[in-house]
Amino acid sequence: MFDVFRGFVRLTWPRACAACGALCGDARFCSTCGPLVSPRDAPRCRLCDAELPCPGPSHRCGRCLVRPPTFDRAWGVFDYAGPVGDAVRRGKYGREVAAMRAVARAVGAHLPAELIDDPPGVVVPVPLHPRRLRQRGFAAPLVIAVAVGRALGVRCARRVLTRSRDTPEQAGLADDKRRRNVRRAFVAASLREDDVLVVDDVLTTGATASAVADALRGAGARRVRVLAAAIVDRTP
Ligand SMILES: [Zn+2]
Ligand SMILES: [Zn+2]
Repeated sequence: MFDVFRGFVRLTWPRACAACGALCGDARFCSTCGPLVSPRDAPRCRLCDAELPCPGPSHRCGRCLVRPPTFDRAWGVFDYAGPVGDAVRRGKYGREVAAMRAVARAVGAHLPAELIDDPPGVVVPVPLHPRRLRQRGFAAPLVIAVAVGRALGVRCARRVLTRSRDTPEQAGLADDKRRRNVRRAFVAASLREDDVLVVDDVLTTGATASAVADALRGAGARRVRVLAAAIVDRTP
């Protein structure tokens, strides 16, 4: 009965592509955008997941060699470009929760093998300050974290982290300013599990992820890994 009803809704009210907005029936991405929603496969830094133009023996990027992040490992499932980039922006800045749900579903379907083989004890979304949450209408990291938790069969703990102060938007800030901007911006409640996967929408310099990792370690986390739906290409 429910399927009949759902079919009727889809016929009369088809879904819009999460990336380009074209009507596409029951799919989350249209037939043009859908095939381009594919995970990254270039050689990457084993710490921050940045693309490596020529992987050296350490498999670490120049930035991590100079200043290692405080998290153990990060992954960006998709490039912050193409249809996934468009869908993330529609969700994040256009308040289109359906677009972010489409991204979250794609992330859940393309999790790194390393994470599936060695899952965390708990999944924790990066929190938004209440003011930013009102602006955006919903918390993108939470939407993605719920999908990741479900795909891994791991609890998603939405109240472990809080943002203790409102910080200016990271986009457009230089590396050192980003670090200063988010330093001590997060507070973590004590944890039952000591192996944490932090989930965010976009990974850029890793400054937010490092600040979150510091807070979680202070609350007893032994291992902190980070998963973002998309990663910004920072190849110089
Ligand atoms: Zn499309
Ligand atoms: Zn790196």
